[in-house]
Amino acid sequence: MSARILLIEDNPQNRYLATFLLERRGHELFQAESGPQGLAMAASVCPDLILLDIQLPGMDGHAVARALKSDPQLRPIPIVAVTSYAMVGDREKSLSAGAEGYIEKPINPETFVAEVERFLRTPSGEAGQ
Ligand code: MN
Repeated sequence: MSARILLIEDNPQNRYLATFLLERRGHELFQAESGPQGLAMAASVCPDLILLDIQLPGMDGHAVARALKSDPQLRPIPIVAVTSYAMVGDREKSLSAGAEGYIEKPINPETFVAEVERFLRTPSGEAGQ
């Protein structure tokens, strides 16, 4: 199953790696380098999933998640926070800001795609997502 995935990440190396791994599996990637750019792209490309870096300059990932979840049109899009293992409390804050789940950094090329695809499964009975 091919999905449209929006990646909001300020680090070029992480963007490159995540995009490479997901495109290799047939997914379509959209990249944003900042929170505001990510919000604008989410509205314009209507992705199936948003991968959200938490440590972003300016508007951080928690603020981006809250903004996405406060928009009725964007709220249904699952958000997966990408959190640094070293940042204690980031996961809990991400979940309370509205993320459906999280993936730990550094990205593990062996497991990353499977971790992302876990969040692409549409719950039965929830059509149109
Ligand atoms: Mn970052």
